[in-house]
Amino acid sequence: MIPYSRQCVSAADVEAVSRVLESDFLTQGPMVPEFERRLAAYCGGAHAVVVSSATAALHVACLGLDLGPGDWLWTSPNSFVASANCARYCGAEVDFVDIDPATRNMCVQRLAHKLELAEREGRLPKIVIPVHFAGRSCDMRRIAELGQKYGFRIVEDASHAVGGNHAGERIGSCRYADICVFSFHAIKTMTTGEGGAMLTNDAELAARLARLRSHGVTRESQLLDEAGEGPWYYEQQELGYNYRMTDIQAALGTSQLGELDNFVAARRAQAGRYGPLLRGLPLQLPAPDPESESALHLYTVAIDCEGLGLSRREVFAQMRGAGIGVNVHYIPIHTQPYYRRLGFRRGDFPNAEEHYRTVLTLPLYPGLSVEDQAHVATTLAAALASGNRS
Ligand SMILES: *Cc1c(COP(=O)(O)O)cnc(C)c1O
Repeated sequence: MIPYSRQCVSAADVEAVSRVLESDFLTQGPMVPEFERRLAAYCGGAHAVVVSSATAALHVACLGLDLGPGDWLWTSPNSFVASANCARYCGAEVDFVDIDPATRNMCVQRLAHKLELAEREGRLPKIVIPVHFAGRSCDMRRIAELGQKYGFRIVEDASHAVGGNHAGERIGSCRYADICVFSFHAIKTMTTGEGGAMLTNDAELAARLARLRSHGVTRESQLLDEAGEGPWYYEQQELGYNYRMTDIQAALGTSQLGELDNFVAARRAQAGRYGPLLRGLPLQLPAPDPESESALHLYTVAIDCEGLGLSRREVFAQMRGAGIGVNVHYIPIHTQPYYRRLGFRRGDFPNAEEHYRTVLTLPLYPGLSVEDQAHVATTLAAALASGNRS
Protein backbone atom coordinates (compact mmCIF):
# COMPACT_ATOMS: atom_id res chain seq x y z
CA MET A 1 0.00 0.00 0.00
CA ILE A 2 1.24 3.50 -0.85
CA PRO A 3 -0.17 5.56 2.07
CA TYR A 4 -1.24 9.21 1.67
CA SER A 5 1.46 10.20 4.13
CA ARG A 6 4.15 8.42 6.09
CA GLN A 7 6.74 9.30 8.68
CA CYS A 8 10.40 9.38 7.72
CA VAL A 9 12.53 8.02 10.58
CA SER A 10 16.32 7.74 10.16
CA ALA A 11 19.04 5.80 11.98
CA ALA A 12 20.03 9.12 13.58
CA ASP A 13 16.46 9.50 14.96
CA VAL A 14 16.60 5.99 16.43
CA GLU A 15 19.97 6.76 18.00
CA ALA A 16 18.71 10.03 19.50
CA VAL A 17 15.75 8.22 21.08
CA SER A 18 17.97 5.37 22.33
CA ARG A 19 20.27 7.83 24.07
CA VAL A 20 17.32 9.16 26.08
CA LEU A 21 16.11 5.64 26.91
CA GLU A 22 19.54 4.90 28.39
CA SER A 23 19.76 8.24 30.24
CA ASP A 24 18.47 9.30 33.67
CA PHE A 25 15.35 11.10 32.40
CA LEU A 26 12.58 9.68 30.25
CA THR A 27 10.51 12.78 30.95
CA GLN A 28 11.12 16.26 32.44
CA GLY A 29 14.83 16.03 31.60
CA PRO A 30 16.97 18.19 29.32
CA MET A 31 15.49 17.24 25.93
CA VAL A 32 12.19 19.11 26.14
CA PRO A 33 13.83 22.52 26.76
CA GLU A 34 16.43 21.68 24.10
CA PHE A 35 13.71 20.92 21.53
CA GLU A 36 11.86 24.09 22.52
CA ARG A 37 14.96 26.26 22.05
CA ARG A 38 15.68 24.79 18.64
CA LEU A 39 12.08 24.98 17.46
CA ALA A 40 11.80 28.65 18.46
CA ALA A 41 15.11 29.42 16.74
CA TYR A 42 14.00 27.57 13.59
CA CYS A 43 10.69 29.47 13.42
CA GLY A 44 12.08 32.85 14.40
CA GLY A 45 9.56 33.01 17.26
CA ALA A 46 10.70 33.95 20.75
CA HIS A 47 9.24 31.04 22.75
CA ALA A 48 8.16 27.47 22.05
CA VAL A 49 6.16 25.35 24.51
CA VAL A 50 5.84 21.70 23.46
CA VAL A 51 2.99 19.45 24.56
CA SER A 52 1.58 15.96 24.07
CA SER A 53 -0.45 16.80 20.92
CA ALA A 54 -1.69 19.70 18.82
CA THR A 55 -5.10 19.07 20.37
CA ALA A 56 -3.58 19.75 23.80
CA ALA A 57 -1.79 22.79 22.34
CA LEU A 58 -5.06 24.22 21.00
CA HIS A 59 -6.75 23.63 24.37
CA VAL A 60 -3.93 25.25 26.35
CA ALA A 61 -3.72 28.14 23.84
CA CYS A 62 -7.42 28.87 24.41
CA LEU A 63 -7.00 28.67 28.20
CA GLY A 64 -3.94 30.91 28.02
CA LEU A 65 -6.01 33.54 26.17
CA ASP A 66 -8.78 33.23 28.81
CA LEU A 67 -11.45 31.65 26.61
CA GLY A 68 -14.40 30.57 28.72
CA PRO A 69 -18.18 30.20 28.96
CA GLY A 70 -20.02 32.97 27.12
CA ASP A 71 -17.11 33.55 24.70
CA TRP A 72 -17.04 32.73 20.98
CA LEU A 73 -14.30 31.09 18.97
CA TRP A 74 -14.38 31.10 15.16
CA THR A 75 -12.48 28.73 12.90
CA SER A 76 -12.57 27.11 9.47
CA PRO A 77 -15.07 24.32 8.77
CA ASN A 78 -12.44 22.74 6.45
CA SER A 79 -10.26 21.28 9.18
CA PHE A 80 -9.87 18.43 11.58
CA VAL A 81 -12.41 18.55 14.43
CA ALA A 82 -9.69 19.50 16.95
CA SER A 83 -9.61 23.07 15.55
CA ALA A 84 -13.13 23.63 16.91
CA ASN A 85 -13.22 21.22 19.87
CA CYS A 86 -10.71 23.35 21.82
CA ALA A 87 -13.43 25.98 22.32
CA ARG A 88 -15.85 23.38 23.66
CA TYR A 89 -13.24 22.12 26.17
CA CYS A 90 -13.29 25.67 27.58
CA GLY A 91 -17.09 25.83 27.64
CA ALA A 92 -17.08 28.43 24.83
CA GLU A 93 -19.27 28.62 21.72
CA VAL A 94 -18.00 27.76 18.23
CA ASP A 95 -18.82 29.35 14.91
CA PHE A 96 -17.24 28.95 11.48
CA VAL A 97 -16.20 31.19 8.61
CA ASP A 98 -16.62 29.57 5.18
CA ILE A 99 -13.58 28.99 2.98
CA ASP A 100 -12.35 30.69 -0.15
CA PRO A 101 -12.78 28.05 -2.90
CA ALA A 102 -9.42 29.02 -4.44
CA THR A 103 -7.26 28.60 -1.31
CA ARG A 104 -9.53 26.29 0.74
CA ASN A 105 -8.64 28.51 3.71
CA MET A 106 -10.88 30.78 5.80
CA CYS A 107 -12.15 33.51 3.44
CA VAL A 108 -11.04 36.92 4.68
CA GLN A 109 -13.96 38.78 3.01
CA ARG A 110 -16.43 36.49 4.70
CA LEU A 111 -14.60 36.93 7.98
CA ALA A 112 -14.79 40.74 7.63
CA HIS A 113 -18.49 40.60 6.80
CA LYS A 114 -19.32 38.22 9.63
CA LEU A 115 -17.40 40.43 12.09
CA GLU A 116 -19.44 43.46 11.02
CA LEU A 117 -22.66 41.59 11.75
CA ALA A 118 -21.32 40.14 15.00
CA GLU A 119 -20.31 43.58 16.23
CA ARG A 120 -23.85 44.83 15.72
CA GLU A 121 -25.24 41.79 17.53
CA GLY A 122 -22.67 42.04 20.33
CA ARG A 123 -21.25 38.58 19.79
CA LEU A 124 -17.75 39.19 18.50
CA PRO A 125 -15.33 36.27 18.84
CA LYS A 126 -12.63 36.32 21.50
CA ILE A 127 -10.38 34.02 19.44
CA VAL A 128 -10.15 33.29 15.71
CA ILE A 129 -8.29 30.14 14.62
CA PRO A 130 -7.22 30.30 10.98
CA VAL A 131 -6.17 26.85 9.71
CA HIS A 132 -3.40 26.64 7.10
CA PHE A 133 -5.06 23.94 5.02
CA ALA A 134 -2.62 21.48 3.39
CA GLY A 135 0.25 23.75 4.52
CA ARG A 136 -0.80 26.86 2.60
CA SER A 137 -0.86 29.87 4.88
CA CYS A 138 -4.01 31.91 5.38
CA ASP A 139 -3.77 35.62 4.61
CA MET A 140 -2.42 36.37 8.07
CA ARG A 141 -1.69 40.06 7.50
CA ARG A 142 -5.33 40.82 6.73
CA ILE A 143 -6.63 38.58 9.50
CA ALA A 144 -4.32 40.42 11.93
CA GLU A 145 -5.69 43.79 10.69
CA LEU A 146 -9.19 42.56 11.47
CA GLY A 147 -7.95 41.34 14.85
CA GLN A 148 -6.75 44.86 15.62
CA LYS A 149 -10.01 46.38 14.48
CA TYR A 150 -12.35 44.01 16.35
CA GLY A 151 -10.13 43.04 19.28
CA PHE A 152 -9.97 39.27 18.86
CA ARG A 153 -6.90 37.13 19.54
CA ILE A 154 -5.38 34.88 16.87
CA VAL A 155 -4.25 31.27 17.22
CA GLU A 156 -2.90 29.84 13.97
CA ASP A 157 -3.64 26.13 13.58
CA ALA A 158 -0.44 25.42 11.64
CA SER A 159 -0.68 21.65 12.13
CA HIS A 160 -0.15 21.29 8.36
CA ALA A 161 2.37 24.06 7.97
CA VAL A 162 5.51 23.43 10.06
CA GLY A 163 8.50 24.14 7.81
CA GLY A 164 6.59 26.49 5.51
CA ASN A 165 7.02 30.19 4.79
CA HIS A 166 4.53 33.00 4.35
CA ALA A 167 5.21 36.53 3.15
CA GLY A 168 8.95 36.07 3.66
CA GLU A 169 8.68 34.67 7.18
CA ARG A 170 8.72 31.23 8.66
CA ILE A 171 5.33 29.92 9.83
CA GLY A 172 5.61 30.07 13.62
CA SER A 173 7.29 33.48 13.74
CA CYS A 174 3.95 34.73 15.15
CA ARG A 175 4.32 38.05 13.40
CA TYR A 176 0.55 38.11 12.87
CA ALA A 177 -0.69 35.82 15.66
CA ASP A 178 -0.69 35.50 19.43
CA ILE A 179 0.05 31.79 19.29
CA CYS A 180 0.94 29.38 16.49
CA VAL A 181 0.18 25.67 16.97
CA PHE A 182 2.00 22.74 15.31
CA SER A 183 1.20 19.02 15.28
CA PHE A 184 3.90 16.37 15.35
CA HIS A 185 1.54 13.43 14.90
CA ALA A 186 3.18 10.68 12.81
CA ILE A 187 1.18 11.63 9.72
CA LYS A 188 2.38 15.27 9.77
CA THR A 189 5.46 16.80 8.12
CA MET A 190 7.79 16.03 11.06
CA THR A 191 6.96 13.83 14.00
CA THR A 192 7.45 13.03 17.68
CA GLY A 193 4.97 10.11 17.45
CA GLU A 194 2.27 12.14 19.15
CA GLY A 195 3.11 15.73 19.97
CA GLY A 196 2.43 19.39 19.45
CA ALA A 197 3.83 22.84 20.07
CA MET A 198 2.82 26.42 20.73
CA LEU A 199 4.97 29.30 19.52
CA THR A 200 4.54 32.81 20.88
CA ASN A 201 6.48 36.06 21.18
CA ASP A 202 4.90 36.96 24.54
CA ALA A 203 7.15 35.82 27.42
CA GLU A 204 4.44 36.04 30.06
CA LEU A 205 1.99 34.08 27.92
CA ALA A 206 4.67 31.44 27.21
CA ALA A 207 5.22 30.97 30.96
CA ARG A 208 1.48 30.59 31.50
CA LEU A 209 1.16 28.05 28.66
CA ALA A 210 4.01 26.04 30.19
CA ARG A 211 2.23 26.10 33.58
CA LEU A 212 -1.09 25.04 32.09
CA ARG A 213 0.65 22.09 30.41
CA SER A 214 1.73 20.82 33.83
CA HIS A 215 -1.23 21.03 36.26
CA GLY A 216 -1.05 24.83 36.63
CA VAL A 217 1.83 24.26 39.03
CA THR A 218 4.89 26.49 39.44
CA ARG A 219 8.05 26.49 41.56
CA GLU A 220 9.32 29.90 40.44
CA SER A 221 9.85 31.85 43.66
CA GLN A 222 8.77 35.23 42.27
CA LEU A 223 5.38 33.73 41.33
CA LEU A 224 4.61 32.01 44.64
CA ASP A 225 2.01 33.39 47.06
CA GLU A 226 3.91 31.93 49.98
CA ALA A 227 7.55 31.74 49.00
CA GLY A 228 10.04 30.63 51.61
CA GLU A 229 8.21 27.50 52.75
CA GLY A 230 11.16 25.36 51.68
CA PRO A 231 12.95 23.93 48.66
CA TRP A 232 10.21 21.28 48.14
CA TYR A 233 7.52 23.90 47.80
CA TYR A 234 5.34 24.36 44.72
CA GLU A 235 1.99 26.00 44.16
CA GLN A 236 -0.92 25.20 41.93
CA GLN A 237 -2.15 28.60 40.88
CA GLU A 238 -4.82 27.60 38.36
CA LEU A 239 -6.37 24.46 36.90
CA GLY A 240 -3.94 22.87 34.45
CA TYR A 241 -3.45 19.44 32.92
CA ASN A 242 -0.77 16.87 32.30
CA TYR A 243 -0.15 17.68 28.65
CA ARG A 244 3.63 17.24 28.86
CA MET A 245 5.78 15.89 26.06
CA THR A 246 8.30 13.24 27.13
CA ASP A 247 12.06 13.56 26.64
CA ILE A 248 11.85 10.49 24.40
CA GLN A 249 9.52 12.39 22.06
CA ALA A 250 11.54 15.61 22.31
CA ALA A 251 14.71 13.76 21.29
CA LEU A 252 12.92 12.44 18.21
CA GLY A 253 11.58 15.94 17.52
CA THR A 254 15.00 17.57 17.81
CA SER A 255 16.47 15.02 15.43
CA GLN A 256 13.54 15.36 12.99
CA LEU A 257 13.75 19.15 13.08
CA GLY A 258 17.28 18.85 11.63
CA GLU A 259 15.72 17.16 8.59
CA LEU A 260 12.63 19.34 8.28
CA ASP A 261 13.93 21.48 5.41
CA ASN A 262 14.78 18.29 3.51
CA PHE A 263 11.32 16.84 4.20
CA VAL A 264 9.64 19.99 2.89
CA ALA A 265 11.95 20.16 -0.16
CA ALA A 266 11.08 16.53 -1.00
CA ARG A 267 7.35 17.27 -0.69
CA ARG A 268 7.65 20.34 -2.87
CA ALA A 269 9.60 18.43 -5.54
CA GLN A 270 6.94 15.69 -5.54
CA ALA A 271 4.11 18.20 -5.76
CA GLY A 272 5.94 19.73 -8.74
CA ARG A 273 5.99 16.31 -10.40
CA TYR A 274 2.26 15.67 -9.89
CA GLY A 275 1.41 18.67 -12.11
CA PRO A 276 2.76 17.20 -15.39
CA LEU A 277 1.74 13.64 -14.41
CA LEU A 278 -1.90 14.68 -13.94
CA ARG A 279 -2.05 17.06 -16.90
CA GLY A 280 -5.08 16.49 -19.10
CA LEU A 281 -7.10 14.70 -16.41
CA PRO A 282 -10.51 16.19 -15.53
CA LEU A 283 -9.42 17.55 -12.18
CA GLN A 284 -8.26 20.74 -10.53
CA LEU A 285 -4.73 20.95 -9.11
CA PRO A 286 -4.01 22.99 -5.96
CA ALA A 287 -3.89 26.69 -6.84
CA PRO A 288 -0.38 28.18 -6.89
CA ASP A 289 0.45 30.57 -4.05
CA PRO A 290 2.89 33.33 -5.02
CA GLU A 291 3.05 34.66 -1.44
CA SER A 292 4.11 31.50 0.37
CA GLU A 293 6.17 28.37 0.24
CA SER A 294 3.76 25.75 1.50
CA ALA A 295 5.10 22.89 3.61
CA LEU A 296 2.60 20.74 1.68
CA HIS A 297 1.39 18.45 4.41
CA LEU A 298 -1.30 17.36 1.95
CA TYR A 299 -1.57 17.24 -1.82
CA THR A 300 -5.24 17.52 -2.73
CA VAL A 301 -6.98 17.62 -6.10
CA ALA A 302 -10.61 18.47 -6.82
CA ILE A 303 -12.61 16.09 -9.01
CA ASP A 304 -16.26 16.52 -9.92
CA CYS A 305 -16.91 12.79 -9.97
CA GLU A 306 -20.71 13.11 -10.36
CA GLY A 307 -20.15 15.45 -13.33
CA LEU A 308 -18.04 12.68 -14.90
CA GLY A 309 -20.77 10.09 -14.39
CA LEU A 310 -18.82 8.53 -11.48
CA SER A 311 -19.11 8.51 -7.76
CA ARG A 312 -16.16 9.49 -5.59
CA ARG A 313 -16.81 6.36 -3.60
CA GLU A 314 -16.05 4.34 -6.79
CA VAL A 315 -12.92 6.33 -7.62
CA PHE A 316 -11.77 6.02 -4.01
CA ALA A 317 -12.37 2.25 -4.06
CA GLN A 318 -10.49 1.81 -7.35
CA MET A 319 -7.49 3.72 -5.99
CA ARG A 320 -7.49 1.80 -2.70
CA GLY A 321 -7.94 -1.44 -4.65
CA ALA A 322 -4.76 -0.61 -6.60
CA GLY A 323 -2.86 -0.15 -3.33
CA ILE A 324 -2.98 3.63 -3.26
CA GLY A 325 -4.01 5.10 0.09
CA VAL A 326 -5.95 8.13 -1.12
CA ASN A 327 -7.92 10.01 1.50
CA VAL A 328 -10.47 12.81 1.92
CA HIS A 329 -9.68 16.03 3.85
CA TYR A 330 -11.97 17.23 5.36
CA ILE A 331 -15.53 16.33 6.24
CA PRO A 332 -16.72 19.85 7.19
CA ILE A 333 -16.67 20.10 10.98
CA HIS A 334 -20.14 21.65 11.21
CA THR A 335 -21.69 18.56 9.55
CA GLN A 336 -20.44 16.22 12.29
CA PRO A 337 -23.31 14.91 14.44
CA TYR A 338 -21.86 16.58 17.55
CA TYR A 339 -21.90 19.99 15.85
CA ARG A 340 -25.29 19.40 14.25
CA ARG A 341 -26.63 18.84 17.75
CA LEU A 342 -25.30 22.31 18.57
CA GLY A 343 -27.52 23.71 15.81
CA PHE A 344 -25.39 23.65 12.65
CA ARG A 345 -26.95 22.38 9.43
CA ARG A 346 -25.72 21.07 6.10
CA GLY A 347 -25.76 24.06 3.77
CA ASP A 348 -24.42 26.48 6.41
CA PHE A 349 -20.95 26.69 4.80
CA PRO A 350 -21.44 25.77 1.14
CA ASN A 351 -17.86 26.30 -0.05
CA ALA A 352 -16.47 23.90 2.55
CA GLU A 353 -19.20 21.42 1.61
CA GLU A 354 -18.43 21.72 -2.11
CA HIS A 355 -14.73 21.26 -1.34
CA TYR A 356 -15.59 18.10 0.61
CA ARG A 357 -17.71 16.80 -2.27
CA THR A 358 -14.82 17.01 -4.73
CA VAL A 359 -11.57 16.68 -2.77
CA LEU A 360 -9.22 13.72 -3.05
CA THR A 361 -5.88 13.61 -1.19
CA LEU A 362 -3.10 11.90 -3.13
CA PRO A 363 0.01 10.33 -1.51
CA LEU A 364 2.83 12.74 -0.66
CA TYR A 365 5.74 12.02 1.71
CA PRO A 366 9.53 12.05 1.46
CA GLY A 367 9.91 8.32 0.69
CA LEU A 368 7.43 8.37 -2.22
CA SER A 369 9.28 7.42 -5.44
CA VAL A 370 8.88 8.81 -8.95
CA GLU A 371 7.51 5.38 -9.98
CA ASP A 372 4.96 5.48 -7.14
CA GLN A 373 3.77 8.88 -8.32
CA ALA A 374 3.47 7.65 -11.92
CA HIS A 375 1.46 4.66 -10.62
CA VAL A 376 -0.85 7.06 -8.75
CA ALA A 377 -1.38 9.15 -11.90
CA THR A 378 -2.06 6.23 -14.28
CA THR A 379 -4.41 4.57 -11.78
CA LEU A 380 -6.31 7.81 -11.29
CA ALA A 381 -6.51 8.35 -15.06
CA ALA A 382 -7.98 4.85 -15.49
CA ALA A 383 -10.46 5.37 -12.64
CA LEU A 384 -11.67 8.67 -14.12
CA ALA A 385 -11.90 7.23 -17.67
CA SER A 386 -14.13 4.37 -16.50
CA GLY A 387 -17.02 6.78 -16.02
CA ASN A 388 -16.88 8.03 -19.57
CA ARG A 389 -16.99 4.48 -20.93
CA SER A 390 -20.06 3.37 -18.98
C1 LIG B 1 -3.65 16.80 12.98
C2 LIG B 1 -4.41 18.04 13.22
C3 LIG B 1 -4.77 18.47 14.51
C4 LIG B 1 -4.58 17.63 15.73
O1 LIG B 1 -3.29 17.23 15.89
P1 LIG B 1 -2.92 16.15 17.01
O2 LIG B 1 -1.43 16.40 17.20
O3 LIG B 1 -3.21 14.82 16.42
O4 LIG B 1 -3.69 16.44 18.22
C5 LIG B 1 -5.38 19.71 14.65
N1 LIG B 1 -5.65 20.48 13.58
C6 LIG B 1 -5.34 20.09 12.33
C7 LIG B 1 -5.64 21.00 11.19
C8 LIG B 1 -4.72 18.85 12.11
O5 LIG B 1 -4.47 18.45 10.86
